[in-house]
Amino acid sequence: MKSMESLKNLKVGVIGLAKSGLAAANFARSSGASVFVTESKQRAECAVFLKRLAKGVTAEFGAHSDRILESDIIVRSPGVPNNLRVLVQAKRSGIPVYSEIEFASRYISPREIIAITGTNGKTTTTSLVSDIFKTAGRKTVTAGNIGSPLADCVKKITPRTSVVLEVSSYQLEDVERFRPTISAILNITPDHIEHHKTMRGYIDAKARVFENQKKTDFCVLNYDDKKVRALKSLCGAKVIFFSAQRRLASGVFYSNGSIVVKLPFAGYSIALKLKIPGRHNIENALAAAAIAAAAGIKRGAIEKAINGFRGVEHRIEFTAAINGVEYINDSKATNVDSTLVALKAFEKPVWLILGGRDKGAPYRPLGSQIKKKVKAILLIGEAAAKIRKEFSGTAELLDAGDIDGALSLASRRAVKGDIVLLSPACASFDQFDNYEHRGRYFKNAVLKMKKRFEKK
Ligand code: ADP
Repeated sequence: MKSMESLKNLKVGVIGLAKSGLAAANFARSSGASVFVTESKQRAECAVFLKRLAKGVTAEFGAHSDRILESDIIVRSPGVPNNLRVLVQAKRSGIPVYSEIEFASRYISPREIIAITGTNGKTTTTSLVSDIFKTAGRKTVTAGNIGSPLADCVKKITPRTSVVLEVSSYQLEDVERFRPTISAILNITPDHIEHHKTMRGYIDAKARVFENQKKTDFCVLNYDDKKVRALKSLCGAKVIFFSAQRRLASGVFYSNGSIVVKLPFAGYSIALKLKIPGRHNIENALAAAAIAAAAGIKRGAIEKAINGFRGVEHRIEFTAAINGVEYINDSKATNVDSTLVALKAFEKPVWLILGGRDKGAPYRPLGSQIKKKVKAILLIGEAAAKIRKEFSGTAELLDAGDIDGALSLASRRAVKGDIVLLSPACASFDQFDNYEHRGRYFKNAVLKMKKRFEKK
């Protein structure tokens, strides 16, 4: 680890001014570096971030000039394409290019770093782990893709802090020395292929989470996911497998409603009383338990935190029950896979609010779950016509237009024991700023409805 002193008078260049770019720039500036930010969007589009940029940081907008090539270190924001001209040139001329996680992690020396990656379940598992650590009394900083970027937290991390990070494949592309004490890969399914080019490229990026780990470190891998299981052969850390499907000779697995921890240094079982629904959440709980056991946390704290966990906002989040009908906010389901996972989590009849901005993938994979449990699809947003075409004849399709329309239709027709589920399988940008905005709008509308109902 270098001290922050070593940033003094260094020229730090940042490509991309969004959440993590802003954090990297401000941290570097506050440590005495001279900082330059380059952003391809126009200045006006970046107003929110520009407002929070530290005094003394210089920035250019609209295009990337060669000025970034004068940097001693470049921090690349996630999502900046590999073939960006200045990035290619920087790499060619030997300027180190780091992700914000690599950059920030060079200036911390915590008690331990936990790094959680995977295609799905990162935020839920990171929150679970963070709750377990806090329940166990560890001083915990939770950062990365969840909450604040790591660079924003550097100054509050001491040698007594446990750092729990949610890490995306983008962040892992530009690591050099990043070394978690415990890493975890939850699953790998096709996603972000447009950036990583091939599935192999995507898997390789995820595997970089453990590339600097040593024999004394741990890596938690999903045994049930073949691609993840195979990574064991590449991993230099001690591997702990978790499985929701089979009893493992050694590892953490699910059996008869319990989490079983069977490791050389810990052995016990925990009766699982998860408040969050679905098989996928059992997997997330197993991963979290495996991480906590590897960190030496005792059974009691793991049990208390997992069974008390109420879930993360916008992920199959119970909003209210009105007249015996449950309203569930799963606005984070911005792709078909997530909606499928949500439908599988319920046995009750569902009124499904589907639609928004189409992402190009077919909706048909939802077909069999829809046939089994969906009473009607309430269509919203731009994708309505495409969804209607794919499901005509399979389910009742109702044109709701927007969330208000959907709720008004659903509340009139749903009966006691039904579920009204916002799990749209689409992006939100046609009608909302982002999925959080969509989720909050839904929740507010449901709660207003509840108040009106109670007044009657
Ligand atoms: P991420 O941070 O990786 O996007 P989240 O925890 O925010 O993951 O969950 C996002 C959505 O992904 C959830 O609403 C759910 O539909 C799905 N999901 C969560 N955990 C898993 C899992 N272990 N396997 C498959 N899908 C999952």
